[in-house]
Amino acid sequence: MEQIIRCVNCDQIFHHTSFDQLPEYVSSPTSSEPFQEKERDDYRDFLKSHRGHRLEDLKIIEDSFVSEKPYLEPIKVSYFKATNGKERFVIRKFRKDIHDPLTYDLIYGDVTLKCVKIEAQTREIKKQMEMELAGLGLSEKQLDDFIRLIQGLTKRVDIRNLTRVTEDSSHPLEIYYRMDDVSYAYLLRNCRTIFREAEFTAIQEFIDRHRDDGVLLWKATHEIQLIQATQPRRKPYPIQEPVEQKSAVKKK
Ligand SMILES: [Zn+2]
Repeated sequence: MEQIIRCVNCDQIFHHTSFDQLPEYVSSPTSSEPFQEKERDDYRDFLKSHRGHRLEDLKIIEDSFVSEKPYLEPIKVSYFKATNGKERFVIRKFRKDIHDPLTYDLIYGDVTLKCVKIEAQTREIKKQMEMELAGLGLSEKQLDDFIRLIQGLTKRVDIRNLTRVTEDSSHPLEIYYRMDDVSYAYLLRNCRTIFREAEFTAIQEFIDRHRDDGVLLWKATHEIQLIQATQPRRKPYPIQEPVEQKSAVKKK
């Protein structure tokens, strides 16, 4: 069970999960027990502090999640988009300290990923060539020329023409793309000036082997761009007398 609840009056967000009511264990020097169970109910506390306010459920917009650090990092800022059916919001999720609970902020605006750099995996390419093509007896200069050629291609490419590889990346802001056909043709043509006829076939096979899911994928580094909009002006919501909560936020 997971619910994103927005208080419309305060623009505050509560992430309702089954963990809200887990007891907290606190050390107690005065008691004979080393840890004491402390009752905790964040959901009840949220409802209490927003008593009489208008609450609504937000639906998370699929695939809108972006994060500045890998999934397992505990201290990081992530964003996702959510909607109440009429408006879309950006929700910032973070914690400042590993012991703090997650905090959710509602932001008016949009969040996107912007590509800031495309590069070839030069180190990995060189290592792979040395391993697979050792029998060819290529010179250091040939390897370096080949790497330089590939790296040069990334300067001419437009990310909009590239196909993203769905493979999991270890970092959420590093996305891998497949080399486009124009770059591929250019690469092969120029390889003829670096490699001798006898070496060329092996080089072409190497390129074909690693183009779709190997070291020849291009790594695009992204940046999170948060575009903040001004909050729409509207009449303040009247504070209602505490009646029954809306069905959307009924306890499950
Ligand atoms: Zn409120």
